[in-house]
Amino acid sequence: MSTVLIIGAGAAGQVVVKKCLLDPTFTTIHVASRTYRRCEELKEACNHKIHIHQLDADNTDDTIALVKKINPALIINMALPYQDLSIMDACLKTNTHYMDTANYEPKDTAKFCYQWQWDYHEAFKKQNIMALLGSGFDPGVTNVFIKYASETWFDEIEHIDIIDCNDGDHGHPFATNFNPEINIREVTQKGKYWKNNEWQIIPPLSVSKTINFPEIGKKTAYLLYHEELESLVKHFPSIKQLRFWMTFSENYLTHLNVLENVGMTSITPIKFKGTDIIPLEFLKELLPNPGDLSSNYKGKTCIGCIITGKKNNQKKTKLLYNICHHEDTHKELNAQAVSYTTGVPAMIGAKLILNNTWTGAGVFNIEQFNAKPFMDELPKHGLPWKVIDLNEPLD
Ligand code: NDP
Repeated sequence: MSTVLIIGAGAAGQVVVKKCLLDPTFTTIHVASRTYRRCEELKEACNHKIHIHQLDADNTDDTIALVKKINPALIINMALPYQDLSIMDACLKTNTHYMDTANYEPKDTAKFCYQWQWDYHEAFKKQNIMALLGSGFDPGVTNVFIKYASETWFDEIEHIDIIDCNDGDHGHPFATNFNPEINIREVTQKGKYWKNNEWQIIPPLSVSKTINFPEIGKKTAYLLYHEELESLVKHFPSIKQLRFWMTFSENYLTHLNVLENVGMTSITPIKFKGTDIIPLEFLKELLPNPGDLSSNYKGKTCIGCIITGKKNNQKKTKLLYNICHHEDTHKELNAQAVSYTTGVPAMIGAKLILNNTWTGAGVFNIEQFNAKPFMDELPKHGLPWKVIDLNEPLD
C-alpha cells in the first residue's frame, strides 16, 4: 500500500499524476500545488480519483503539516528547482522518501548544482530514508542509458554526447516546453563541458554542430551545460569527454536574442511603477503555459546518448535513444512530449523506490542504481528505446 504526495500540478506534474493512476503500485495519490485551481482542474481530469491540497512548498512548516496529515511514503517533487531544499527539509523532519527531476537552484542566482543536495546525504542516511535526484528524461533516462551501457556493453566508457532534439512545432511564435523561467535561465547561461579532466567554459550558445538525429535527420544542435554532466563525471571517473547538445529553431533563437537584448530575461529586480519586478518572472506570465501547448503540437522528440568506450580492449560506439510523438502523448494524456518524457520516468523512479527495487539510505543520483529494472519499465509506460551501433563517435 503506497501513498504518494506529488507537489506541483504543472505540465510535467500532471503527467506523473495520470501515469501513477494507471499503475497499481500507487494506492493513494495526493497532489499539492501553489495554485489550488490547477489542482481542481487536474482532479476533474482524473475523474476525482486524487486528493488535492493547496501548498506553498517554499514554506517547510506547511509542507511538514501536510505530510503529517496524509503520511505519504514518498514525496515526488514536480514543482520548481527552487523548492528542492525546503521539500528535502520537510522529508527529513517527517522521515519521508524524496524524489525530483531537477537539481536545486537559488531563485536569485541562475546557477544549478548538485552539491547543495549532495550535502544532505549524511542526514538522509541517518534517518534511513532515500532521496532520488533527477528522475526525468534529461537528467534521468539519459543517466540510466549510460549506466545501462556500462553494465551491458562496456568495460570502460570514454566519450559521451547527450543529444536532445525537439523536432516538433506547437504553432506559437515563441513558447518554452517546460517552465519558461527555468528553461530560459538554463539556455542563457554559459556553456560547459568536460574534457581532459576539467570543465571547459564557453560563452552561451557559442558552439554548434550538425547532428544526424535518428528518425529525424540532420539538425543544428548547441552545446549547453546540463545538470547530469556534474553527476556523471562524479560517478563515471573514466570519462574523458562529456558534452550535452540541444537543438533550437532559428525562430526560438531570434526571439530569445531580442528578449535578452531588451533585458526581458534578466533576474535582477527593476522598479516598475514603484514596485520591484523581475523581468523574467514578468515574461513568464506573458508566455504560453507549457501544459497548454499539446493540442496543436505536431512532430516528435529524439533524446539519446552517443557512448564510446572499450570492451575487451576493443573500441566501440553505441547510440541509445527514444522517439516520442507529440500527437501520441496529446491523445493519451492531453500532454506534449516534453512533459510526457519528463513525467513518465518520474513515475517509474517512484515505482522502483516504492516496490523496493531501488533501496538505500542517503541522497543518490539515478545512475547509482541498477539500470535494468528502469530500462524494462520504460517501454511498458510509453517510452520505448532503441540502440544502434555507430562507426565512430561525434567529432
Ligand atoms: P510548470 O511551471 O508547468 O509546473 C510547475 C508547477 O509547480 C506549477 O503548477 C506551479 O504552481 C508549482 N509550483 C511552483 N512553485 C511552487 C511552490 N512554491 N509550492 C508549490 N507548488 C509550486 O513546470 P514544468 O511542469 O514544465 O516543470 C516542472 C519541473 O520539471 C521543473 O523543476 C523542471 O525543471 C523539471 N523538468 C525536468 C525535466 C527533465 O527531463 N529532468 C524536463 C522538463 C522539466 P503554479 O501553478 O502556481 O505556477
